Amino acid sequence: MQAQRPPLLEVKRNFELKTTLVKASSRPPLSGSRLKRGPDQMKEALEPAKKRTRGLGAVTKIDTSRSKGPLLSSLSQPQGPTAAQKGPKKTGPRGCTAVGSVLKNQKLAPTAPAQKPVRKRPGKRPDWDLKGQLCDLTEELKCYREKTQKLDQENQGLQEQLKEAQEQAAALGTERNTLEGELASVRTQAEQCQQKLEALCARVLELEEWLGTKENLIQELQKEQLELQEERKALATRLEEQERRLQASEAALLSNESEVVCLRQKTAAQVTLLAEQGDRLHGLEMERRRLHNQLQELKGNIRVFCRVRPVLAGEPTPSPGFLLFPHGPAGPSDPPTRLSLSRSDDRRSTLTRAPAPTTRHDFSFDRVFPPGSKQEEVFEEISMLVQSALDGYPVCIFAYGQTGSGKTFTMEGRPGGDPQLEGLIPRAMRHLFSVAQEMSGQGWTYSFVASYVEIYNETVRDLLATGTRKGQGECEIRRARPGSEELTVTNARYVPVSCEREVEALLHLAHQNRAVARTAQNERSSRSHSVFQLQISGEHAARGLQCVAPLNLVDLAGSERLDPGLTLGPGERDRLRETQSINSSLSTLGLVIMALSNKESHVPYRNSKLTYLLQHSLGGSAKMLMFVNISPLEENVSESLNSLRFASKVNQCVIGTAQANKK
Ligand code: ADP
Ligand code: MG
Repeated sequence: MQAQRPPLLEVKRNFELKTTLVKASSRPPLSGSRLKRGPDQMKEALEPAKKRTRGLGAVTKIDTSRSKGPLLSSLSQPQGPTAAQKGPKKTGPRGCTAVGSVLKNQKLAPTAPAQKPVRKRPGKRPDWDLKGQLCDLTEELKCYREKTQKLDQENQGLQEQLKEAQEQAAALGTERNTLEGELASVRTQAEQCQQKLEALCARVLELEEWLGTKENLIQELQKEQLELQEERKALATRLEEQERRLQASEAALLSNESEVVCLRQKTAAQVTLLAEQGDRLHGLEMERRRLHNQLQELKGNIRVFCRVRPVLAGEPTPSPGFLLFPHGPAGPSDPPTRLSLSRSDDRRSTLTRAPAPTTRHDFSFDRVFPPGSKQEEVFEEISMLVQSALDGYPVCIFAYGQTGSGKTFTMEGRPGGDPQLEGLIPRAMRHLFSVAQEMSGQGWTYSFVASYVEIYNETVRDLLATGTRKGQGECEIRRARPGSEELTVTNARYVPVSCEREVEALLHLAHQNRAVARTAQNERSSRSHSVFQLQISGEHAARGLQCVAPLNLVDLAGSERLDPGLTLGPGERDRLRETQSINSSLSTLGLVIMALSNKESHVPYRNSKLTYLLQHSLGGSAKMLMFVNISPLEENVSESLNSLRFASKVNQCVIGTAQANKK
């Protein structure tokens, strides 16, 4: 138990014990064992003294019964007890001293001497000296009596001491209880302290843990700080670099500013120069247009190109020399302009039974394209005409010839997406769009509106009709506005176009519409004229200039005639009417061209829908080009000759000086 005492308690106890001992120093000395004893033990401790005292008393009694001689002698010489007589009454609050001394004396003076109280016995009295003996005994008795008295007194003192000791023991018990109470409270306190300590320990652990975390955090922060410092250093270096650059830039800026001032002055001068050059360019453009037109006029406002298609797969190869393309005076490098066709006269050979003689027919045109000519070559020749349309001159390009001679191939090309086989219409459109783009740099803005109609049996049909409009409402040719020369086809679509893809879509649509018609009426496409019209409007807003001109690309109906000797069935009467209608419109076209060439007062435009629709593209201010398409086959020779003769007539025509439609 003592080992578990808190040190504080131990110290306090020691201190109190010392205090008690110090206090007790004024008391009769108690042995250590007595101090530790309780009141009962003290009583027991004191008991032997009493017993001894009683024993002494008994001895005394016994001795009393003995002779009195030695007793009296011992009384005459009082020994140890006399010393004890000095302080027995010295009792009081600190009676312990007396007890101590008594006990000491008891130890020092054991009862043995009391049994022999007379030390100095005079020599043995003779037996007869009874008086002396009595005297000795009396003396001894007296001594014993005194001693008994002293012992009684001592006993009384000891009793008192015992009482005191008991009181003291009670006080000590009380003190002990108090101390035990204190001890308990101290223990409770100690427990509380222990609990507090435990709590504190837990708290310490917690704090240590927290401290650990914080230390880790601090380490991390320190690490981060180091990194940041590094970064800061790098940034500082970069900043310095940037500052240096900035300074350099500022210096450069200053020098540049002066340069800018200089350049501004130069720019102003150049702007003036540019304006002057713009004026010059415009003048040059006008000059170019004039010269271009002159060139076209020199070439002829009406030109005829002859194109012979190649022999197709499965067709008989014509005999050599059937078609010849003599080259020009400059040799083979000269583009051919002549065509020679040989025809054997079968009637004469039948009559004479001689080999059929051949007749050569020579034709000369503005240009002849032999069978191997590419679409691209053909277009190159007409691109100048397309340019004229942009310059404001009406342009009309026809494809004339019998069915199957290559008119549609020349105009539209072969469908299928092969760019090599593209015809004049898509190529002309591409050319127009790109030139218009170039001209925009000179201040010209162009817009294009396309229409595509077919004229069959003197009725006009829209090839761009879509949805419900297909086949609904007859198309009529009317003036666009009252008093205006411009013509328009009612119920036909006029579609603004600005790129090749839009034109492609229109051609595709027209192709589909023709295919539908073909199923309804046999090969109607060959029996009708297809007219692709593009209205070109150009404007130079800065100079207030405008030019409007139509570009017409016409795929004419097959020019073949019906054999007059043929007997016609009921189904073929329609075909005859069709053919007559076609022939009539084609001959009207020829007549119109003739009338224009001869500058006749009356031009029979109204004799056919075709010439009526194209009247403003055929007149004196227009440029016209006719492709005469020829089949390479010998079986088509008579139709080829007819076409060539018609074309030759047209070729001989010269239409008056064209004038651009400038406003
Ligand atoms: P048309 O329109 O005069 O009736 P097409 O243009 O339909 O005649 O031509 C008839 C056939 O001959 C078509 O299959 C066409 O592809 C082909 N053809 C016409 N001209 C050429 C040419 N220059 N090169 C190759 N094939 C051609
Ligand atoms: Mg055709």
